[in-house]
Amino acid sequence: MSNKFYITTTLPYINSEPHIGFAAEIIKADVIARYHRFLGKEVIFNTGTDEHGLKIHRKAQEKGLDTQVFCDQMSQSFKDLKELLNLSYDRFIRTTDKNHVEAAQKFWQICADNGDIYKKKYAVKYCVGCELEKTESELEDDRCPLHPNLELEIIEEENYFFRWSKYQDKLEAFYSKNSGFVQPGFRFNEIKSFVKSGLRDFSISRLREKMPWGVPVPGDNSQVMYVWFDALINYISTLGWPESQEFKDFWPGLQVAGKDNLKQQSAMWQAMLMSSGLKPSDKVLIFGFLTNEGQKISKSLGNSIDLKELISKYGSEAIRYYLLSAISTYNDGDFSESRLKEVYNADLANGLGNLSARLANLIEKEELSLKLEFNPKAEITLNFKRLMDEYKLQEAINFLWQEVDKINEYLSREAPWKETDKEKKALILKTAAIQLVNISDLISIFLPETGKKLFSQFKAEKIKKAESLFPRL
Ligand SMILES: [Zn+2]
Repeated sequence: MSNKFYITTTLPYINSEPHIGFAAEIIKADVIARYHRFLGKEVIFNTGTDEHGLKIHRKAQEKGLDTQVFCDQMSQSFKDLKELLNLSYDRFIRTTDKNHVEAAQKFWQICADNGDIYKKKYAVKYCVGCELEKTESELEDDRCPLHPNLELEIIEEENYFFRWSKYQDKLEAFYSKNSGFVQPGFRFNEIKSFVKSGLRDFSISRLREKMPWGVPVPGDNSQVMYVWFDALINYISTLGWPESQEFKDFWPGLQVAGKDNLKQQSAMWQAMLMSSGLKPSDKVLIFGFLTNEGQKISKSLGNSIDLKELISKYGSEAIRYYLLSAISTYNDGDFSESRLKEVYNADLANGLGNLSARLANLIEKEELSLKLEFNPKAEITLNFKRLMDEYKLQEAINFLWQEVDKINEYLSREAPWKETDKEKKALILKTAAIQLVNISDLISIFLPETGKKLFSQFKAEKIKKAESLFPRL
């Protein structure tokens, strides 16, 4: 097994502030990256910002800003998430970065040399919200179902096209050889039947005079690249492709994305990789969408969640815990602040917080010197790994909290505070404390701050009371 592991999120489009859906995606990616580091692997974890295209160009114009200045501001807002959500990514690529622009042009050239790019006059319905062409079968009431408040635009021009249709058989053969390529299985089935139904070549450039904000097409000054074509290439440009040892060492990697990205990540991008003679991605994990209190989150409803406000109110550990444990990893889920509070009080304040507090209090009162050895229980680690290796994140974190509950139950059952035999009392406390220390390493994969605090509190020479991990709300 390779000792190198590469994971990347999709690059969020920076026409608006980071939203809760992207927070959920990058937190899940963070957990997977931390897990692989825990396994002792060398990990590259990539994220960044997607900065080209019509939507961004228009947004900057609306604000009266130079487009690059607007991108710089928005990109920073996404970079801020690293600290706010305690993320461990080590690459942040912007599609306006020079090395990315050069890689995109090189990639284009290779696809063109392989006969997969041609020019054609066409007219198509286009959703600026998705930055995607829409076929009639994808529309509802002649509107994009994801952006029902936007008028579709008609693009009528001569552009370059990518020969997606040429890769239909190759993609189908690849899917059938790689049974777990897209996870979960129902998303894999969805993309398989989409590809099977026939692929249409898609346009990969725009007339510069109508839309100047893109990577220049090599050898044709009148055109810039279509935003999706250049953006997808970030997954390899961030590794220094075409000429780097790092790319050779780390590609192919694991990609995570929301369900609106299924087609782009698992079919468009894979065909592009095939065209350029590169290996397809290792695996694509597709996550569901979040609703807000049961309602679809949309601009027209004005019900988007202020992520930064939420973090300042509850802290990143609580947000991480809630998104990972109370909401399905792959299915659509609902974000609810009242549910967040419930989960926080039940699992964090009363569960883990109460356990660590009462344990530390009792040990300090007894003036026990325990010097706990970290001795992970093989069985727990094994069960945990089994879930994590299949990227069942919600089950894995809930499995850990079952262990927390077990320790709490053990303490209640043994009631060391009633025990008069000092030796017996010490043994009960020591048993419980070791169990807690043993899972704190695993907990830190999900809640890095909490895991660290537990470890240092219970590994100390003298275990002492500390500030409450999770004060009750
Ligand atoms: Zn749309």
